Amino acid sequence: MTGSSGKTAMQQHEDDIIRAVDFLYGKTTEGALAILDAPGSISKVVSMTSQRSIYCVKGSSAFASRGKGTNSEDTYLCMIPQASDDVPIYFCSCRSFMERNRHLTNESSCLCKHLLALRLMPVLQVQPVLIETASDDEFANLLMQRIPSE
Ligand SMILES: [Zn+2]
Repeated sequence: MTGSSGKTAMQQHEDDIIRAVDFLYGKTTEGALAILDAPGSISKVVSMTSQRSIYCVKGSSAFASRGKGTNSEDTYLCMIPQASDDVPIYFCSCRSFMERNRHLTNESSCLCKHLLALRLMPVLQVQPVLIETASDDEFANLLMQRIPSE
């Protein structure tokens, strides 16, 4: 018998985490969950030699009803710390991340919805759809294209 109704312990666990995250991040959580809800919004690119990975996250403006609603499929380049990192690095190429880091007070405050979505990905068991491997040159080019040179 597999239970078809009621919440499993795992779902309850997810709910608890989302509640905690919602408390910490407020509005940012909504954006992060919207990203995770949208199929194909997160893709992962892994560098073949360094094994460093980055994520491309589609902006939720592509799904939101408000706003221009045209073909604004903004994709942001994101990095989250990997187990092998000595120093945790968070990076997102979106404006919100830049703004937050200008007034940085602690680690949690620097997370935009894209990075939060990536952090929640394993909790909600969302897999990035597309996993590409790139040569180090391609990887570097990708970074250069997406990072604003301001
Ligand atoms: Zn972002």
